[in-house]
Order: sequence, then C-alpha cells, then structure tokens
Amino acid sequence: MAKVRRLVPQQPGMFRARVVRTERVSPSMQRVTVGGAELAEFPWLGYDHWFRLFLQLPHQRRLRLPEYTGSQWWQQYLAIPEHERPHCANYSVADFRRQAAEMDIDFVVHRGPTGEIEGRAAIWACHAGPGDALAVLDQGVLFDRPHDASEVTIVADETGLPAAAGILRSLPDGITGRLIQEVPTADDRRVLDGPAGVTVSWAVRQDSTSVPGAAALRELRRLASTDATGYAFVVGESTLATEGRRHLHRLGLPKDRITFSGFWKREATQAA
Ligand SMILES: Cc1cc2nc3c(=O)[nH]c(=O)nc-3n(C[C@H](O)[C@H](O)[C@H](O)COP(=O)(O)OP(=O)(O)OC[C@H]3O[C@@H](n4cnc5c(N)ncnc54)[C@H](O)[C@@H]3O)c2cc1C
Repeated sequence: MAKVRRLVPQQPGMFRARVVRTERVSPSMQRVTVGGAELAEFPWLGYDHWFRLFLQLPHQRRLRLPEYTGSQWWQQYLAIPEHERPHCANYSVADFRRQAAEMDIDFVVHRGPTGEIEGRAAIWACHAGPGDALAVLDQGVLFDRPHDASEVTIVADETGLPAAAGILRSLPDGITGRLIQEVPTADDRRVLDGPAGVTVSWAVRQDSTSVPGAAALRELRRLASTDATGYAFVVGESTLATEGRRHLHRLGLPKDRITFSGFWKREATQAA
C-alpha cells in the first residue's frame, strides 16, 4: 500500500480532503471514499466517530471554510456570506484506513415525494467525482457505555447504520446485547462484524411511504424488559430517538444510561 506523506492540518480539528472514489454499496447507501495527506492525522476512535462535513458549492472554484476556533466555529461559519458558505452536514466515519489516509463516508440516498434525490449532501454524494474538495471537522464519539454495563441495546434507522456498524466493530468480545437496525429495503441489509453475543435484528420498511424510524421503534417496543444496569444508544429520525428512549426508560433503564440523538427530523411536509 502506498505510504502517505503526513501533513499537519492548518486548523486544529479540521481536515481538508478530496474525493478518491464512490460506490453505491446498496440501494439506499452511497459510499464516498475521501483521502488526502491531512487525513492521515485524523484521530479516529472507532465506534460512532462523527464529524461536520463541509462541501464546496457547485459554483465555487475553491472550498471556503470557517476559521476554526473550538466551539466558536458555528458563529464563524454563519459569518461567511451565504453565496460562499459551504454546505455543512453531520456524518459518521464508516471506515478509516490511516496508512492510506482514507475515510469512507456512507450517505443515505433519501428521496422526495416524486422519487427525486433530495438533501444537499445526499445529492452531492451521488454526483461526487475524484478530486472534489471537502473538509471534515472532528466531533468525537457519542457512544458512552459505562464500564459496568451488563448489556448494550443499539437502535438506529439507516442514517445510524454507519454509526451502529462502527460500534459493533469496536465493542470488545464478550459484550452481549442487541442491535435493532432499520433499513429502507431488504437489499440494504449487510453482514456486520461484532461480538457474537450481540444479536442483529433488521427492521425492513414495508414500502417507500412508510415513516422512517417506525419499524425500528415497533421492534424495540417488543422488548418487554431490560437490565437496569445496561446501556442503550438510540439514533435516527427524531421520533425514533425520543420515543425509543422513553420506552427504554419505562422498562427501567436510567436516563443516564441512554444516549439518544435525533440524527435528522422528518418535516411536516414529508408526512404522508
Ligand atoms: C452525529 C450524526 C451522525 C450522522 N451520520 C450519518 C451518516 O453516517 N450517514 C447519513 O446518511 N446520515 C447521517 N446523519 C444524518 C444526516 O446528517 C442528515 O440526514 C442530514 O439531514 C443529511 O443532510 P442533507 O444535506 O442530505 O439533507 P438536508 O438538506 O439536511 O435535508 C433536506 C430534506 O431531507 C430530509 N432528510 C434528511 N435526511 C433524511 C433521511 N435520511 N431520510 C429522509 N429524509 C431526510 C430533511 O428532513 C429535509 O426535508 C448523521 C447525523 C448526526 C447528528
């Protein structure tokens, strides 16, 4: 494998990169592999490591980024005039290869009512080509299993699949628990590496009109008991995150043992 010259990023936490290749890994998931010398320094922690993704606008000749100053980056980002401000969205590291300074990012290909691909990041991913510029701002991991946790319960819609896959891959052997993973179609299911004691249940949506997150929530609600010394991680459409947390808390799991995050919000106009 070619050795990559390491380069210290000019702005701490911000890593400039370029598209290396793209691949449709399943009907609803577009993988974009990005690389570049700065990326060799990305402090990848495994699990659900996530980042802010900055994308060059179609009319731009170069990617303009906020001057990163820790938690102040958002104000700086908003201060960039709108026609020069890069699109920013949140994504998880699907895989990382330090030797090659490459990162895989899996984008859910989500569609509007007439079947057209919607969402600026999703559209970008489906049209990206080698050399396209981007940057990632490191945000660390959300998964926060207490060391004494007896079992783990992970629940996710398709936007949480890269995170869930990363968590399963990072968990030590001997951990027990379950992953309830929703996907839009049966062909979006794939083999996931993880501890033998963590079962994987796929909740496949019935059709394109089904509400995202509802199938995983239905599956989670079948769970009639949980160990109060366990830990849960619930991510995806915001109703799945909040209602999933509510159900687990009702079963007796303390709130401080549940990490939940609305990865995106279904708008009222998307309601059937
Ligand atoms: C910590 C974190 C990690 C994440 N990791 C990933 C990841 O690895 N892969 C991934 O695909 N997403 C991930 N997401 C979710 C992603 O940030 C959102 O889906 C985001 O809105 C996509 O940006 P966009 O530019 O495509 O769409 P936007 O321009 O933000 O949204 C346009 C429209 O699309 C709708 N929309 C957005 N996402 C979806 C969807 N999945 N299905 C249906 N409608 C949608 C919005 O409600 C809106 O109406 C993550 C979110 C967080 C907070």
